[in-house]
Amino acid sequence: MLLKPLLTADQIAQRIAELGAQITADYQGQELILLGVLKGCHPYLSDLARSIDLPMQIDYVQVASYHGQQISSGAVRFKRDHEIPIEGKHVLLVEDIVDTGLTLGYLRELLETRQPASLAVTALLNKVEARTHDVPVEYIGFDIPNRFVVGYGLDDEERYRNLPYVAVLGD
Ligand code: 5GP
Repeated sequence: MLLKPLLTADQIAQRIAELGAQITADYQGQELILLGVLKGCHPYLSDLARSIDLPMQIDYVQVASYHGQQISSGAVRFKRDHEIPIEGKHVLLVEDIVDTGLTLGYLRELLETRQPASLAVTALLNKVEARTHDVPVEYIGFDIPNRFVVGYGLDDEERYRNLPYVAVLGD
């Protein structure tokens, strides 16, 4: 498989520093819960958390929507729920990528029923052209073309998550 670099490690680091500063300013005086969406969120969450200068708790949810395929199956299944209660808390959901918006729409709706003080979403990558579900994403790292990408947490059948950059996967 051919890896065509799309975003360098430096570009990613620089953008995360900007987002961290913006989030720090927006939530000044408040405590946050960062809720990572496993598994792809892990490098992004880890770098973003360290660029936010606020008290925070960190927890994770896991859903399955792709089942190892390169196109969306259209079904979302809950695999792991968060452990920290979010009622009355400021929650920032941390996604690796928003594609059709199906997963995020499902998660937003579900988490809202748990009555957080506020709920916002950050996604490192956003495939604008692929969106079929209109769902707000408050903090976007990069808008990218509608191609299958790997690296920096994103996988193809569990491979490539350790790449320090984001690449388009081609033949
Ligand atoms: P959505 O529900 O928005 O269609 O898809 C969200 C999930 O699909 C992401 O959290 C991610 O796991 C997976 N996904 C969507 N696009 C890509 C991609 O280009 N590369 C990889 N590796 N996963 C993707």
